[in-house]
Amino acid sequence: MRALALLLVALAAGAALAHEADPGAASITPENLLADVRALAAPELGGRLPGTAGYEAAMRFCTERFASLGLTPGGDDGWSQRLTMELNEIRSCELALTGADGVAAPLALGVDYACRGFTGSGVADAPVVFVGYGLSLPERGHDDYAGLDVRGKVVLAVKPAPKWEPADGQGWGDAHLPRPKARAARDHGAVGLLLVPHPAATRPQPAIASVLHGPGEQVGDLPQAELTAAAAARLCAGGLAELAGLVAAVDEAKAPASRELPGRARLAVDAAYDPAAPTANVVGVLPGTDPELRDECLVIGGHLDHVGRQGEVYWPGANDNASGAAAVLALARAFAEGGVLPRRTVVFVLFAGEEQGLNGARWFVAHPARPFERTVAMLNLDCVAHGDSIQLGGGGSQPALWGLARGLDAAHARLSTARTWPGGGADAEPFHEAGVPTLYFASTPSYTHLHQASDTPETLNPLLHAELTRLAYRTAVEIAQGRYVGEAGERP
Ligand SMILES: [Zn+2]
Repeated sequence: MRALALLLVALAAGAALAHEADPGAASITPENLLADVRALAAPELGGRLPGTAGYEAAMRFCTERFASLGLTPGGDDGWSQRLTMELNEIRSCELALTGADGVAAPLALGVDYACRGFTGSGVADAPVVFVGYGLSLPERGHDDYAGLDVRGKVVLAVKPAPKWEPADGQGWGDAHLPRPKARAARDHGAVGLLLVPHPAATRPQPAIASVLHGPGEQVGDLPQAELTAAAAARLCAGGLAELAGLVAAVDEAKAPASRELPGRARLAVDAAYDPAAPTANVVGVLPGTDPELRDECLVIGGHLDHVGRQGEVYWPGANDNASGAAAVLALARAFAEGGVLPRRTVVFVLFAGEEQGLNGARWFVAHPARPFERTVAMLNLDCVAHGDSIQLGGGGSQPALWGLARGLDAAHARLSTARTWPGGGADAEPFHEAGVPTLYFASTPSYTHLHQASDTPETLNPLLHAELTRLAYRTAVEIAQGRYVGEAGERP
């Protein structure tokens, strides 16, 4: 079925390529997109972590393209819209476990484990204590550390929030995020933190690299990693079944069931933390030509950043989001080479810091480099090249915008699914919160390799990538030429 779907995509794309009359759409090709993805996902760019030389190189790649296409710089410093954000460069991250059987086994970085993006530095070599979800909220009726001595120990905690509510019924807020958990571990005297996916999940999460960390001060002296449930199971005499049982006991009682495990861990990390590393969004503008409409803009965005490298391993982020960045560049090329003279102004943006918490998009919305009378719509391209179909988010709250794209898809490749959601999501979220109609382009199923070192160009579907980008282009042209006026009731 999957093979058939891919074949149909190939046929549809081939037919479209052969008969494409619109020179803008014709300029969007699988080859061009894949070449840009390969450039952005290359080892030299090291996973495009904002504040690093690799991210700077990715920015240069995009500014040179914008310049060669004749766009106007749209940042506050040429093409760059400067901002700062936290940066943690992980120079080495080593984890080894000694199992309950006393046998030491090396683990593979990027496969069995990965450092947390905001890990502290240090060497922890100690017995492991299971601490449930690693939450210490005694004032709220839950403390996984109550009555436990973890001084000098490595603690093992389940990574996600519990599916059940705390006793006060107020939810877990940010307490389940890695940084608050690291602070709880360090405050109790632990020397290392290991996070494990819920072992009874239907599809247990792999060990992913992530720089999402939660609020508060950096815990710079506590090494922190996450590992697969299969790897963590070696710490228990009864393997995965016993580990799952330990977590089930917490879930059933909705109360701590922490205890020492027979295994031990050695976690050694060397990381350099900067609380305010300079970085930037890249912004290129195609000015509007209509005196009535050029003070209105359409924003076309995608995030340029990914989760960087850890020692010798880097996370290429080919689908997430070299694919979306390549699509933004291809859209700029399509407007330029298609000779489109947009009535509204079109702003092309590559955001920094999506992975850390939408930093670049939030900054862009809060600090417009150029004020516009109105941002009529924001198109977001994120994870757009893996899978066999297209999903369009935003239909739940922007039916007119969503209907426009669905109609264009129906007239061309017919690859979009009926599934949608309300506006926002990822970099579209700050725009949605500011009242801008958003449409979120993603491929589906898109997240097979999400935040794994296996998110490489070889796993992408370039034909789908091209069709999705053409759909975004056709949608963008309609908006830019004033044929989309907004959602019903929004504006006369
Ligand atoms: Zn992404």
